[in-house]
Amino acid sequence: MLYQRSSQLFVEAQQYIPGGVNSPVRAFKAVGGTPIFVKRAKGAYLYDEDGSVLIDYINSWGPMILGHAFEPVINAIKTTAEKGTSFGMPTELETKIAKLAVEMVPNIDKIRFVNSGTEACMSAIRLARGYTKRHKIIKFAGCYHGHSDSFLIQAGSGASTFGVPNSPGITPGTAQDTLLASYNNLEEVAHLFQSNPEQIAAIIVEPVAGNMGCVPPKEGFLQGLKQLCLENGALLIFDEVMTGFRLAKGGVQELYQVDADIVCFGKVIGGGLPVGAFAAREEIMNHLAPLGPVYQAGTLSGNPLAMAAGYEMLQYLNDHPEVFTSLEAKTIYLKNGMQEIFANTNIPFTINQVGSMISIHFHQDPVVDFTTAKNGDNDLFKKFFHGLLERGIYIAPSAYETWFLTDALTYDDLDQTLQAIKEVSLIM
Ligand SMILES: *Cc1c(COP(=O)(O)O)cnc(C)c1O
Repeated sequence: MLYQRSSQLFVEAQQYIPGGVNSPVRAFKAVGGTPIFVKRAKGAYLYDEDGSVLIDYINSWGPMILGHAFEPVINAIKTTAEKGTSFGMPTELETKIAKLAVEMVPNIDKIRFVNSGTEACMSAIRLARGYTKRHKIIKFAGCYHGHSDSFLIQAGSGASTFGVPNSPGITPGTAQDTLLASYNNLEEVAHLFQSNPEQIAAIIVEPVAGNMGCVPPKEGFLQGLKQLCLENGALLIFDEVMTGFRLAKGGVQELYQVDADIVCFGKVIGGGLPVGAFAAREEIMNHLAPLGPVYQAGTLSGNPLAMAAGYEMLQYLNDHPEVFTSLEAKTIYLKNGMQEIFANTNIPFTINQVGSMISIHFHQDPVVDFTTAKNGDNDLFKKFFHGLLERGIYIAPSAYETWFLTDALTYDDLDQTLQAIKEVSLIM
């Protein structure tokens, strides 16, 4: 059996950890089979507990944009760890990374660091509510903003995979303050503003969606949201946990030239350590404690190891903006290759791609929102996933996930991947 040791480890894990995992998508429920237990990783490759090498297209769900165990980051963690791992007191490192982030990202003056993307989004809406003195928020079906109560309403990827868009444990009171619209649909958003006058604090959006596969914003969609926010006194929150420091130095604000009011970060910003952050203009950020009345705190927030890792990552990206171009070129190469392969089959497919985010949907129609994302044929996806896995290619174990390329991938890796895709396409 190919994954004997992983299977054993999974059996043991399930005895002590619910479902054997600390985050549901890792359990392979959507694709079946046994999750792969990883031993170590370097560059573009994962080395699993059964001795296989896999080319990694997930990269810890995004953070490893420069490859696993990236030396400058690892060295910074080592050096910092020698000096102690947490103080609960301010350190100069926090200011260093804050200054750098504010320089790299347009339209933000101050940034607060937290420990996850979930915390960043949760705190961002509290800040928006405190600032506007309104209660309701608008989110889009299929967008994921972490697992805090207000957002677990048609939340894409993990939540959708399991068919529990409204998780038990979320009170009706909380759910009623979250208004839902379809991604890329400005009319629905305009209608929500009309039917909830002066009650909407903010729109939160993945400005390039990545949790229902990759779904780009239609031309004018983000600008339209900005306009509706301006007209109605609401704030526009860009959840750039996935896109920030990945699609461009300054994220989607820079890529599509739209200014958000609050921006959330995670994933890349921590260089592979648990970090999130939210940022805005000074006038908004000054509403946060200790300056203002909106409370937010964290025992391990601004943790020195995490700040050191994040700083090295951002510094490298700031000094090497060609990474973004190189990543995009590799992703387009993969996209063109896949397009050619599947065009020669009867398999219905659509590929969406923005920068280094890409996803294939096994359905012929364009995927523009959650409804169209759900059209994809999951049986075809399962075959695709397991066929690739057997050939040493690791993609996300769910049809609702984006692939995240790493710049550590070589064109040889991409060719090897395309060869595997070609073989798999013949047996799907
Ligand atoms: C991953 C993700 C989150 C949640 O971040 P965690 O660090 O997993 O809590 C929030 N928003 C988006 C867009 C994400 O992709």
